[in-house]
Amino acid sequence: MALRVRGVLLPEDEVREFWLVGDRVSTEPVPGAETVVDGGFLVPGLVDAHCHLGIQLGEAPVTSLEEAKALAAVDRDAGVLAIRDAGSPFPYPQLDDDPDVPRLARAGRHIAPVKRYLRGIGMEVPAEEVTAAVATQAAAGNGWVKLVGDWIDRTIGDLAAAWDAETLTGAVAAAHAAGVRMTAHTFCEESVTVLVRAGIDCIEHGTGLTEDVIDEMARRGTALVPTLLQVDNFERIAARAEEKFPVYAAHMRALAARFPAVLRHAVEAGVPIFVGTDAGGSIPHGSIVEEMLSLHEQTGMAPVDVLAAASWRARQWLGFPGLVHGGLADLVAYDADPRADLDVIRSPKRIILRGRVVR
Ligand SMILES: [Zn+2]
Repeated sequence: MALRVRGVLLPEDEVREFWLVGDRVSTEPVPGAETVVDGGFLVPGLVDAHCHLGIQLGEAPVTSLEEAKALAAVDRDAGVLAIRDAGSPFPYPQLDDDPDVPRLARAGRHIAPVKRYLRGIGMEVPAEEVTAAVATQAAAGNGWVKLVGDWIDRTIGDLAAAWDAETLTGAVAAAHAAGVRMTAHTFCEESVTVLVRAGIDCIEHGTGLTEDVIDEMARRGTALVPTLLQVDNFERIAARAEEKFPVYAAHMRALAARFPAVLRHAVEAGVPIFVGTDAGGSIPHGSIVEEMLSLHEQTGMAPVDVLAAASWRARQWLGFPGLVHGGLADLVAYDADPRADLDVIRSPKRIILRGRVVR
């Protein structure tokens, strides 16, 4: 049976009426449709652009599809109807079309340097095998590959690029040759500079960005997912590492301290910014509102721009058309205007995923 919804559509800011027929949106009336939303404010669902359905709190891989689905349900119930999975040690392509799971844009496993990254999470490869690993993981995901661009190198006691510049550059080219987009975890300065210049599609965290690299991202249209909840963890990571790796600890603290200024420059320069929680591992799923509020507070971005970064603009970036004729039948309705108060996001009045009422 078709569903009818009516409310103020954002960002258009106009009262609109839609009919949801199966998993599609129609602007043409469907006789006999059941009205499930009448009034309030409509968005095409939130997007968590950096999320891990394959990693549990405590940084252990999930071990079953049911566990991955349970994590996805937590995000969905917070209004997240599309997820970009930024690396999963557990493959779950079966969930791409699962009616209970948000839309998925997935990388395969993280491609990581040998014996430096979180144990059991990444596909760990030496420089000479990175290109082949990119091809393997491009096939394992559904449009993205995730690289670990840098991590602590315990032999030098500081952050360091995962591989040499030539290998990082070759990895981006290999992803594009495989027809997928590439993103990379970067904390430090060196790796992010090389990867942006190599034409990578997106940067995760990006704490090591400098003004000239930000300007290059703006020119190229390279996206940034700043994961502010994760950057809040830098102090804890530094405190834990301090005794053995004081240079690393100081570096992490310095990166976190300058990050709000980096982000404000990225906003001013026009870098496409998207909201990602980095849930899984150390951040709980369902934290999208906290990430949105942090982005608003740290950059001064207007609530409507934060909403765009966490909803319609992110869906467009990932290829999930929203509330237009022929679009996908996902929406969240709120009683009040979230542009006036982002806290409204905490209380969705109605959640519809793939044409079915979730709440
Ligand atoms: Zn992550």
